[in-house]
Amino acid sequence: MTASSQPDVSEPTGEHADGGLVNLHEKLAGLLASRGQWREAYDHLRSALDLIYRDSAGSTPAVPEQLRREVDRLRREHAEAHEQSIRDSLTASYNRRYLDQRLVAMLTEQVGAIAVALVDLDWFKQVNDRYGHLVGDRVLQQVVELLQVELPEPAFCARYGGEEFVLVLPDTDQAAAVEIAEAARDRVERHDWSAMAPGLRVTVSAGVAHEVSGSCENGAEHQLLQADSLLYSAKQSGRNAVAYRENGRVRLAGPASGRRAIADVRVAGHY
Ligand code: GH3
Ligand code: MG
Ligand code: MG
Repeated sequence: MTASSQPDVSEPTGEHADGGLVNLHEKLAGLLASRGQWREAYDHLRSALDLIYRDSAGSTPAVPEQLRREVDRLRREHAEAHEQSIRDSLTASYNRRYLDQRLVAMLTEQVGAIAVALVDLDWFKQVNDRYGHLVGDRVLQQVVELLQVELPEPAFCARYGGEEFVLVLPDTDQAAAVEIAEAARDRVERHDWSAMAPGLRVTVSAGVAHEVSGSCENGAEHQLLQADSLLYSAKQSGRNAVAYRENGRVRLAGPASGRRAIADVRVAGHY
């Protein structure tokens, strides 16, 4: 903590009794917590508790009730602040920061295979243009709910950016991952969107990429690029489809599998 960010709390004059120090630590903790400096606030509360335990000389110390409540409140608020820092504020799905951290950690630490599905809303700009941005926002929230239905633990959904989401599916083989993504696509297509706005229809396209953990240094980035490339194929095939790779060839899941062969084009960028 820098000197300038230090709260201005003067030394208690002439008071060196531990009771005074406990109070001082508690006050500092309150000030720091009000600034969101949870770690430092927690350290001061710990110092206060250490003083109380030290003075109790082996007997069970009487921890002031107020201090107990402060510790509980700090723990709660810290947990809430942490939760907010990893969630997307519009859709409550995990955010890009969480996705990047978790995916890298999973691919480097975990033994086994991980599948990711990169999901992108089809013609979403038109939804905004026709129905307005607020309806667009509600569509994104509803799509996330539909994507998350029956997502098996510890799989999760994260907002990749804009109208793109990633389903991360640890310990999932390719066939199961394609099934999960195709079921999600189907749910979005079948959802009664007209209840939100008359005439509204929403579909998504997805690319499913499968990777064995520890298989390459830039595993997470590589896997998302693969998924991005497959998403592009799904879009090219006419949208509302899930694309994946089998024996080196791009295939489409479900009803879209009957569509004509699609070009296997790799591009950077998003849709
Ligand atoms: P495609 O099928 O090729 O993906 O077409 P598209 O219209 O979905 O793709 P495009 O990239 O042209 O447009 C994406 C749109 O998503 C444009 C942008 O305004 C909108 N969008 C991104 N984030 C939000 C958001 O948080 N809320 C709303 N309402 N719209 C958003
Ligand atoms: Mg789109
Ligand atoms: Mg897009």
